Amino acid sequence: MSGTFSAGDLRRMLSRLRDVMAGVGAVQGRLDKVVALIAQDLRADVCSCYVMRAGEVLELFATFGLSQKAVHLTRLRVGEGLVGEIAAHARPLALADAWSHPQFVYRPETGEDFFRSLMGVPMIQAGRVIGVLVVQTKEERPFNDWEVETLETVAMVIAELMAATQVVKREELFQSEGNATLHVRLAGAVLHPGVGIGFAVMHKPHVRIGRLVGDDPVTEQYRLHTALNSLRKEVDALIDSSRDNEGDYGDILEVYRMFADDRGWISKISEVISSGLTAEAAVQKVHDDTRLRMMQVNDPIIRERIQDLDDLANRLLSILSGGDKRTELPDNAILICRSIGPTELLDYDRRKLKGLVMEEGSPTMHAAVVAKALDIPVLAQVSGALSRIDALDQIVLDANAGQVILRPSEEILELYTAAVETRTKQKAGYAAIRELPAVTKDGMKVSLNINAGFLLDMQGLAETNADGIGLYRTEMPFLAMPTLPDVAAQYALYKQVVNGAKGKPVTFRTLDVGGDKIAASSSNAPEDNPAMGWRSIRLTLDRPALLRQQLRAMIKATEGEYLRVMFPMIANVAEFDAARRIFKLEMDRHLRDGGRPPKTVKVGTMLEVPSLLWQLDALLKRADFISVGTNDLMQFMYASDRGNTKLANRYDTLSPAVLSVLHEVARKCTAANVEMSVCGEMAGNPLDALALLAIGCRNLSMSAAGVGPVRAVIRSATFKELEPFVLNLLTADDSSLRERFRAFARDRGIAVA
Ligand code: PEP
Ligand code: MG
Repeated sequence: MSGTFSAGDLRRMLSRLRDVMAGVGAVQGRLDKVVALIAQDLRADVCSCYVMRAGEVLELFATFGLSQKAVHLTRLRVGEGLVGEIAAHARPLALADAWSHPQFVYRPETGEDFFRSLMGVPMIQAGRVIGVLVVQTKEERPFNDWEVETLETVAMVIAELMAATQVVKREELFQSEGNATLHVRLAGAVLHPGVGIGFAVMHKPHVRIGRLVGDDPVTEQYRLHTALNSLRKEVDALIDSSRDNEGDYGDILEVYRMFADDRGWISKISEVISSGLTAEAAVQKVHDDTRLRMMQVNDPIIRERIQDLDDLANRLLSILSGGDKRTELPDNAILICRSIGPTELLDYDRRKLKGLVMEEGSPTMHAAVVAKALDIPVLAQVSGALSRIDALDQIVLDANAGQVILRPSEEILELYTAAVETRTKQKAGYAAIRELPAVTKDGMKVSLNINAGFLLDMQGLAETNADGIGLYRTEMPFLAMPTLPDVAAQYALYKQVVNGAKGKPVTFRTLDVGGDKIAASSSNAPEDNPAMGWRSIRLTLDRPALLRQQLRAMIKATEGEYLRVMFPMIANVAEFDAARRIFKLEMDRHLRDGGRPPKTVKVGTMLEVPSLLWQLDALLKRADFISVGTNDLMQFMYASDRGNTKLANRYDTLSPAVLSVLHEVARKCTAANVEMSVCGEMAGNPLDALALLAIGCRNLSMSAAGVGPVRAVIRSATFKELEPFVLNLLTADDSSLRERFRAFARDRGIAVA
């Protein structure tokens, strides 16, 4: 195998592979032929195919060049040896001298003493590693990128053969519960609370590709472009229907449309078609490659965008293979999936969808944002969901307690049915007080605002009758895009936000993204600690053009309206000064160019990096307002990663440490007459909101779902009782005060949801 292997050679090899695979006979026989053919065509001494068996073990399934005695005998755990290493990281390995690699393990039964070089690639199907394909040579030889890519293309073709013929039965990989009649609980992370009762529907995102090897690249290119046109039309139709129906998902879907037009993506697919694959196989190949690359990125937000990519690729595949995306749902359906994209979710009948359970998924994924807007309970990271839940299993999804109950007993069903009824009544109760102020029984008033990040969230403002948008996360709609949108696009978006707010104030936060998040396609080196890395204001101060463009768009969008701008991750006053100077440059420019000034201008900062606490006095002379981001402040104070589910309940916001810090901030802000608010998650939790009120915070910003419960709790509390109770606890030596708060509320009949 050498550099002389050309694109034409690859095409010829693929078509020979197709002939072997389309042939008759046992799968084993065909696989034997396949490995022999690959070894011969790639001029390698060995080609072996390892297949994933139950218990994450890779079994040598077919080989040309190694001892036939080792077939079905040699087994390696995932992570063990070079083959296990390739499977564990779903990454290729190409080694001129495999023996010197620290992971190398020698298996005498294979007779591999003679083989020096090794190149192996994972075989991937529906996002899972299902095996490893390896070639070896006797001579010590480096492999180049083209050779690795060639083997990847071949591996993909074989993976499809294996899936189609069920070389390993699904039941083997996912062993059953044993006693299928007992109820089973599976735990997960709550992305949107609520309870859903219904029957499991398995979401089938993966489209089976019928034909892999194309006969004529020109026809395949034509099919690709026709399918892309249909894809654009489908996305446009979804955008239109979202505007007519429950909510405006426009900005999420617009990002999709931009993807569908992305030249880089399309030209990569075209290239692969030229190498001999069909349009659908090329889409799959490019998708698998991009997916793997994105999986390597440390940044969780980038990894979340993988679902969007899956969604788009599946949609395109489904068009190419003429599949029907709509699945008929039973009246009460709980959707089960590994992960899902927002448009896939929108393909289902929303009236019948009572819940969403995912094996993967994370809070800021777009599907979760959509589900939240539709008020569908969502549980993510439910390990074993796909293997343990069968289609039409009866299910209780308790996304308040973070659990799924399979095959519930009659008693459990009755309990939950009653809980759903209570919740419906509660919601009606919140709706009934939406026009009433958030004021304690003894007259202490609190301003309630919502956090938003998508246009979709703007509906929450009207629904909750909140006082404004306390935090608009400008980065949200742009995260999936390869580059930042220009000033005109940003202006258009901010203008819609301002119009949607109908005169209520909106606090725009400038970009809070990490280096990777700005340009998914850029080659920024992954960081060890992205949350503490080159992100947010650090990045935008280093690339002031980004900040200037964003501020220009915000200023223009708020002509004649309130303008509130907030900078994230400010660690010292020098950074705030620098950011404010840039803001002034843009404001001067706007006025110089004849722009109308906003009605009022307030420039403030997030307080979420602990170092800023020690420069509060200086800061309060400069900032018009301060918003405490308790999500980040907590994670930095406790050195506890906010995204790590193992640490999720380890430290509490209702702790003497957090409350003492916030008390001091509130005291100083009041003395300096600077507005202070809290916009972290804690603000939307009724018990936490009471504590914040007691320590002097009068302005809270939260997700829209929190406004009703917080309004209710405030209206049922008495400030004169609350304040001394909380202030006395600031010096307690408890790690959490939550139970004491709960008892306090219970004893006084305070309405904690
Ligand atoms: C916070 O850190 O508390 C906050 C509100 O910002 P984000 O969650 O966007 O980091
Ligand atoms: Mg933050």
